[in-house]
Amino acid sequence: MEKRPLGRTGLQVGIIGFGAIKLPGISEQEASDCLNLALDQGINYIDTARNYRDSEEKIGKAVAHRRDEYAIATKSSARDGDAMTEQLNTSLRNLRTDRIDVFQLHTVSTRDIWEQVRAPGGAYEAALRAREQGKVLHIGVTIHRELQVMAEAIESGLFETIMLCYNALDSENVGTEILPMARAAGMGTIIMKPLSGGQLCRPLEQRTPGLGGPDAIIAGALRFVLQNPNVDCAIPGMQSVREVEENVALGESFAPLSAEEHEELIRLIGEFAGEYRYGQRCLRCGYCQPCPQGVQVPEVLRAGDMLRGYAEELKHLALDAWKAITVGPEACVKCEQCLDKCPAGINIPEQLKSVQELFKGYREV
Ligand code: SF4
Ligand code: SF4
Repeated sequence: MEKRPLGRTGLQVGIIGFGAIKLPGISEQEASDCLNLALDQGINYIDTARNYRDSEEKIGKAVAHRRDEYAIATKSSARDGDAMTEQLNTSLRNLRTDRIDVFQLHTVSTRDIWEQVRAPGGAYEAALRAREQGKVLHIGVTIHRELQVMAEAIESGLFETIMLCYNALDSENVGTEILPMARAAGMGTIIMKPLSGGQLCRPLEQRTPGLGGPDAIIAGALRFVLQNPNVDCAIPGMQSVREVEENVALGESFAPLSAEEHEELIRLIGEFAGEYRYGQRCLRCGYCQPCPQGVQVPEVLRAGDMLRGYAEELKHLALDAWKAITVGPEACVKCEQCLDKCPAGINIPEQLKSVQELFKGYREV
């Protein structure tokens, strides 16, 4: 797999990294199978976060004995220094390592958070201290929205890497404005949600490798991201051996899209996903969880996206997903505690209600 320098960090990373956000959804053994296969097949960058539930622990158990074969990136959402230090120490323990290659300030997506982390005694100061102590080798930042905050974070010169949402559905101005700025500043660029949080994927059982359709969308969407010369690495989330194999194969055969292929990709996405607007689609990050009422927000919004986006013959999958939800929109008391946590800026109570209505209209539920 092609490797690219991760900005000025000195790391050389494969163009496909392992996004570990989905590991909480599988068993320890399955996680171990995926991670070890990924390393065997040349993936050398693993990205996780303190708040991806047991993702860090699973990585530590599965591959800590192969620590020199991969760079580990994790993230902390702590905003003050003491909490950041505590979270970093937990990450080191979980990952069974003495160093984090890329330690990222997580979801610095609003101006308020940007001010908090830079304030005296804030998270950035703690990350700097950790770098001086050798616990952290490079400091990065992840930002889901607010182009202005992205620009300021780049211009500040405080970070060596930046992780951003960028994909064929949701390229906004990130591709044309922000990524070139990051490149000019010598920062490593890591792309989260290259498949738009799975929205560009059909369920595995519905795919037919090599015959176009949904697989063409996945392949095309990854190529769309990787052909941007200002992208170093994309980290699709993986939770099965088959997904690891597919992503590695795509990384190994990567070639930029021709003009015709690009046009075809946009046409396929248009058919597949319908009209898309930022702030209306869930990225499945799970940051809104846990809800105090137990509402399974990502699962509800996923079922809604499936019902809206899937062809008629696949809508039964949306109904299955809807029926598997144990605490749905009816339990939402509109407390709005989740609103500030959502990096996509979704009005969650409103969207929950709209999905509830959607399923009522489709079939008696
Ligand atoms: S608004 Fe609804 S979904 Fe959000 S935290 Fe409150 S009860 Fe949970
Ligand atoms: S609603 Fe927002 S916070 Fe919750 S999973 Fe979706 S994108 Fe993430």
